[in-house]
Amino acid sequence: MDKCYLCGNHFNESDVMKHDEHIIQQAIGGVLKSNNILCETCGEILGRAVDAPFSMMFDSICTRLDIKKDRGNNKGTAKGVVFSNRDAYGNDLSGVEVFWKDSKVTPVKPIHKYSPDNSKVVVYASAKQLKSYKERVRKEVDERYDDGCKPEIVVCDDLSGVITYPLELDDEAFKKGFAKIAIGFASRVGVDRDVLNLVLDVEQNKIKDNVSLLPFYPKGVFDDIVERDKKNIRHYPSHTLILFTAASRTNLLVCYVELFSTFQFYVILSDQYDGKPIYEGYQQRLDKRESYIFKPDRRYYKERGMILSSLGIDQQRIDNAYEKQKEFSNAKTAEEIEYKIIQDEYMKQKYYVDFDEEVKIAIDYASMKLIEPLDQLSLKNVTDTLSNARLFYRSDENDEEFFDVSSYRRCFFSGGECHDYVFYLKDFYETCEGRKKRKEYGHNKLYMLSGHMEIKNIKEKLEA
Ligand SMILES: [Zn+2]
Repeated sequence: MDKCYLCGNHFNESDVMKHDEHIIQQAIGGVLKSNNILCETCGEILGRAVDAPFSMMFDSICTRLDIKKDRGNNKGTAKGVVFSNRDAYGNDLSGVEVFWKDSKVTPVKPIHKYSPDNSKVVVYASAKQLKSYKERVRKEVDERYDDGCKPEIVVCDDLSGVITYPLELDDEAFKKGFAKIAIGFASRVGVDRDVLNLVLDVEQNKIKDNVSLLPFYPKGVFDDIVERDKKNIRHYPSHTLILFTAASRTNLLVCYVELFSTFQFYVILSDQYDGKPIYEGYQQRLDKRESYIFKPDRRYYKERGMILSSLGIDQQRIDNAYEKQKEFSNAKTAEEIEYKIIQDEYMKQKYYVDFDEEVKIAIDYASMKLIEPLDQLSLKNVTDTLSNARLFYRSDENDEEFFDVSSYRRCFFSGGECHDYVFYLKDFYETCEGRKKRKEYGHNKLYMLSGHMEIKNIKEKLEA
């Protein structure tokens, strides 16, 4: 694209400057960038109005996954709320505000609870608060109980596993954040702003206020297994984007956005798209971000051209980045700029995964799982399973088999018919059962992510 999707102005060298924009917010670990979708001014406007509040919602998840960019030695703290009704001691802690620090979850204010049979009193406090608070509890126990029947004082300094993350899914900032990701991805693929009529207000140069997100729910038999076993397949958690035109109505342009393998929504971008059918996927991993500083060595000076081209960097890009900042008081030298770009590209490649390949691995995995109990399924399910398999495993005119990714998250077979996910799900959520199932599914996804983070933190504790 040669113009900014928000203001519609064509890029130039003066007042509509190109700007490196993260398609998925950098604060939540996004690495995909594009320098020709937003101008500098609009990038800053959306950064403040959309990215900042959106990223804040995922703050506790990012802290726990350790994907804070500028973490340094401070691992940060994250707030959450206890959601389990009973902890390991049988105490009800729901609603207690907790924070996470140094791989441990403790209450913001220390508390204590007597077990139902009064045999124990559990003190919940961080290491810092513990000593003085425990003393207070001891006094209370001495006053209340006679010798011989005093409850034992037990200390709990970690509540991981019972906390949840405050996320208001109806929040305007949440919707806009998803819409911005979808618009950015579509623009990067080359879709004009005028086409994006359901999400962009091109008269007022803004993202629309009433964007509707359609939550994903796994309806196809393959998706069902993929989602159930997601954390065991590969690269969990990850971010995924898929831009596509609906199978049964090619003027409907949709972007599927999946963040942290957990928050999965369709953003309907347009019902006036008239270009070629699209199916474009992207996935990145989110494993612990290691810091990497590029330092040129002898090999670099010898093979500079080759190294640059292998990372997809051309001289023009280095020159442009240098020119843009050379007047600043803290200007970097051309070499420093070059090393910074290499560092960025290296990191990007480290997180990059091949979307088609990842989908194939997931679908192959589900196929294996489906084959085993095939004879136990009803006839209808066998037919549906085979029809769904044929969407992915196809053969060309020479009978050569190939894997076709293009139905993934877009359409599926059920009851002998091929359905577009977006149309099917709209009807599904009209029903009480549909809404209930989606709610349970959303909880399960969050639970899976919590479990993953908990295990990750336990591993870190063991290593520490
Ligand atoms: Zn602009």
